Amino acid sequence: MTFEDFNLNKPLMNALKDLGYEKPTTIQQKGFSVMMSGKDVIGIAQTGTGKTLAYLLPCLRLWSFSKLRFPQILIIVPTRELVVQVVEEVEKLTKYMNVVTVGVYGGANINTQAAQVALGLDVLVATPGRLLDLALKGDLSLKKIKRLVIDEVDETLNLGFRKQLTGILELLPEKKQSLLFSATMTEDVEILIDEYFIVPVKIEAAPTGTPLDNIAQQVYHVPNFNTKLNLLKYIIANNKDLSKTLIFTGSKKMADRLFEEIDPLLPEKIGVIHSNKAQNTRFNTVNSFQDGTFKILIATDIISRGLDISEVSHVINFDTPDIPENYIHRIGRTGRYDQEGISITLVSLFEKDFLSQIEDLMKMKVPVSQLPEDLEISDILTDDEMPKITMPNVEIKTTKREGVGASFHEKSAKNRKVNVRVNMKDKMQAKYGKAITRGQKPKKKKK
Ligand code: AMP
Repeated sequence: MTFEDFNLNKPLMNALKDLGYEKPTTIQQKGFSVMMSGKDVIGIAQTGTGKTLAYLLPCLRLWSFSKLRFPQILIIVPTRELVVQVVEEVEKLTKYMNVVTVGVYGGANINTQAAQVALGLDVLVATPGRLLDLALKGDLSLKKIKRLVIDEVDETLNLGFRKQLTGILELLPEKKQSLLFSATMTEDVEILIDEYFIVPVKIEAAPTGTPLDNIAQQVYHVPNFNTKLNLLKYIIANNKDLSKTLIFTGSKKMADRLFEEIDPLLPEKIGVIHSNKAQNTRFNTVNSFQDGTFKILIATDIISRGLDISEVSHVINFDTPDIPENYIHRIGRTGRYDQEGISITLVSLFEKDFLSQIEDLMKMKVPVSQLPEDLEISDILTDDEMPKITMPNVEIKTTKREGVGASFHEKSAKNRKVNVRVNMKDKMQAKYGKAITRGQKPKKKKK
């Protein structure tokens, strides 16, 4: 199948020619005619499969010019980085069309974005929170939306945007086409679909859990964290083909810690990105990695999802992901679009179960590499790795009290007080040290 078979219009064909895309990817082939028919669609596809173009082509082919310039196409994505990326892709495709595209996301000035929206637009790309804020503020009209795309639905829900998402769905016109894209079909995604979408057609890029064939995977078994760190440093120092390497960690803290550890090995060639970094820093870091200034980018799962960084040579999983699907997403950052990729996973004793779950999901074993002979094996354990001293669970028997039922509670100190009458004399004595009674008024001194 070629793009000619899609019966696209001239402007879109010319834009595709400029982009140099030769033939549609699987998800583009499977999705095009269904989406053109106007049906609701659920696309199971991860980044790297060409899913963005898969929904943009039919949406833009079906778009028609309107002087009103209310948005007709709404694309909701989970992160600010993805907003920017999708806007860029729309702009490339609409190079020969009169289409205005605007991206809005949180963490940037809302008034600037409201002013931009007020000028009129055709395609809106947004993160859920900011989109809802703009709509509720009355700065944005959603009544002309004809096509809704929710990209990376699973991630949007994972990030806790369910309420915002359903809030937006309530504001949208009932008559519209909805296209949902998700890397995995989670229970949360299914619930959302059941509630809001009418018998959507399901299309799939590749069965969930199937990693791309062109990624050579390997694991190293290491006894503990410090040896893992030594191994990572060893790999960086001894591997000349680490031209564009993504290192994943499970937490922001670990990402920062790793950065401190490995930065001296390649000064100014390593970047770190996670959700605590300021928006500008995040953009700049990704750009520096994209253009080759940074050879290594340390990232957390959430931030990397959906990032389209081309030609990643290696993915290193410093932490073995505890959610097996995350492994597929992580290694899917390399080997994109027919290029060869390498993934290296460092598995400590404590993470062996996670690896088994990943292998179960993929229905294959990942080849094990031998540790280099000159690798320094550390026997220093981290606090987390220290064997825990546990106290035996001794049951303390309390004597049973007569007449006390099951609902007996110990009285609080305040309520346990017994009211005791204290007479005036005792009170005064406690206060002044001696008893002063009415009958003992101090006598006036005689002059
Ligand atoms: P996506 O899965 O949408 O994140 O796309 C991954 C990458 O593939 C993007 O850089 C696209 O520009 C590129 N791409 C999408 N469709 C095609 C195609 N048919 N031929 C070549 N590259 C493509």
